[in-house]
Amino acid sequence: MKLNLKLQPINTWLETKNEPLLIAGPCSAETEDQLMATAHLLAKTGKVSVLRAGIWKPRTRPGEFEGIGSIGLTWLKRAKEETGLPTAVEVATAKHVEEALAAGVDILWVGARSTVNPFTVQEIADALKGVDIPVLVKNPVNPDIQLWIGALERINNAGITKLGAIHRGFSSYEKTAFRNEPMWELAIQLKTLAPDLPIINDPSHICGNRELIQYVAQKALDLDMQGLMIESHLDPSVAWTDAKQQVTPAALSELLDLLTQRKPEIKDKDFTDKLADLRTNIDKIDDQIIQKIAERMQIVQKIGEYKRDNGVTILQVNRWDQIMNKRSAFASALKLDLNFTGKLLELIHSESIRKQTDIMNDKKGA
Ligand code: PEP
Ligand code: MN
Repeated sequence: MKLNLKLQPINTWLETKNEPLLIAGPCSAETEDQLMATAHLLAKTGKVSVLRAGIWKPRTRPGEFEGIGSIGLTWLKRAKEETGLPTAVEVATAKHVEEALAAGVDILWVGARSTVNPFTVQEIADALKGVDIPVLVKNPVNPDIQLWIGALERINNAGITKLGAIHRGFSSYEKTAFRNEPMWELAIQLKTLAPDLPIINDPSHICGNRELIQYVAQKALDLDMQGLMIESHLDPSVAWTDAKQQVTPAALSELLDLLTQRKPEIKDKDFTDKLADLRTNIDKIDDQIIQKIAERMQIVQKIGEYKRDNGVTILQVNRWDQIMNKRSAFASALKLDLNFTGKLLELIHSESIRKQTDIMNDKKGA
């Protein structure tokens, strides 16, 4: 079921026609000079649509730099006057909203640590009642799409229709190459539930380092996201926050030049005919896959009944090892990714076990 959000198309609320929307600027506003110099360099690239800067920073441990506070808003105002770039800041309380609005900030965003808390989001939403300003909602720290949707709904219910989402990745216990796991499937799920909701990708917070930003930004564009938010600092090596992931305005400009923008669709008839043909084939194969899985489950049902009647356990580890080994060898011969086939087999196997457990417990219609 689609979400019931009241939205205005992004091109009616973008100050600029640049697509994808490019939001760039330092993680934090640190000093007036740092912000002004960064803003001027970013504006000079001609590729940036909006200037971002964190004014109030949510920090994991007390004692770290918690943002320069309200004074930074006056610097942002000056940066806007001098560069013409609209500005964006993170807000986490009603007071932040009031101050940012009073200072003429153009776009507000809700940070990942706020999206996790419905009380905080509601406080922000209440402060936005009767205000007409674009608001972007970052995904929550944890991979819970309902929290993300809930926050978007709360802001939307407050009357904000210039609404967008920011995909900044999800915290995970396991250490991986990313600071925050992208879990692209969650952003895709949101897009499927709300096709008109613009999604901006934040490769800086996903990567946590400079090296992977290009790859993540390209992937976001290939998934038809409407924009990017990238942290850029005059001199990242001395940045007060997120030093490892910020890029200089010059590096940002190069990175943007290397991005390929592919179109979501083209109107050419030969192209659409060929694509339609290929899609028909895919549909046919998908039907066959579902049919085969249903056939497999019917056999699982029989095996379950047979095991139950003979008092045999559901899981026989050797048999499962055999299946995994044989299928993996086959998959490998067919040049399929082993990680993918492994996950697929695990999923089918766990459904088979669930079904057999129901049979053992004599559930009707298992
Ligand atoms: C930020 O944008 O600097 C920030 C704090 O991001 P997030 O809320 O995604 O952690
Ligand atoms: Mn940051």
